[in-house]
Amino acid sequence: MKAADKQLIYTLLKTADAYECGYTREKFAAEPVFTDDAETPQQEMTVEPIPTMTDSSANANSGLTIEELNAKILRCTRCGLARTRNNVVPGMGVQTPDVLVIGEGPGHDEDMQGLPFVGKAGILLDRMLAAIGLDRKTNCYIANIVKCRPPENRNPLPDEQSACFSFLETQIHILKPKMILCMGKIAIEKITGQSISINAQHGEFFDYNGIPVMPTYHPSALLRNEQLKRPAWEDLKLFKKRLDEINNN
Ligand code: SF4
Repeated sequence: MKAADKQLIYTLLKTADAYECGYTREKFAAEPVFTDDAETPQQEMTVEPIPTMTDSSANANSGLTIEELNAKILRCTRCGLARTRNNVVPGMGVQTPDVLVIGEGPGHDEDMQGLPFVGKAGILLDRMLAAIGLDRKTNCYIANIVKCRPPENRNPLPDEQSACFSFLETQIHILKPKMILCMGKIAIEKITGQSISINAQHGEFFDYNGIPVMPTYHPSALLRNEQLKRPAWEDLKLFKKRLDEINNN
């Protein structure tokens, strides 16, 4: 406190005292001399960084369970797709999957149900996976590059993919799949960060942080073009062979 403030308070109290008691302090004591209090150094303000899902590092969200992460995804309004969706589709499957299957984004049926790959393409995907011993109920997890449906089933825009990608990165970090199967061009290009021709490079192996990744045709493409089923089947056989090798090591 400043000396002037102390003096003011003292004078007020002395006046009140004199009014009540009829004497002044001068009779008993010399007038005190007030000085300024020593300045106390102001504490430095520290701001804890708040980990957000926009951090590119999945470690910013390590410690979350897949349910906790998906609960965050359900509340997301980070990109424009939040305005047109009916439901967010975080993903579904087992918590310690052998394989993570990645599509590009929810379609109409997925948007209505809040679940990935549940329409015609989903039924075909389940059959493809079953053919190589995979099942979303026992050893797979299924997710998408974007978790909300792009209107009219258009491709997700680059900024929508970027806004959503840290969710998938964190899902991979939590789930730790042994292998990743990318359904279609958008999924493999976002995962690898490379421009990829699905016709020329389906069935090749790529790498995502030490996890083998293979692109193959999206089930919707197989529904549109029956002739793609044979090469997709050859891809799946290669994928299964590699998974067996990993499981047997
Ligand atoms: Fe959020 Fe992804 Fe949905 Fe966009 S698509 S609102 S980033 S969850």
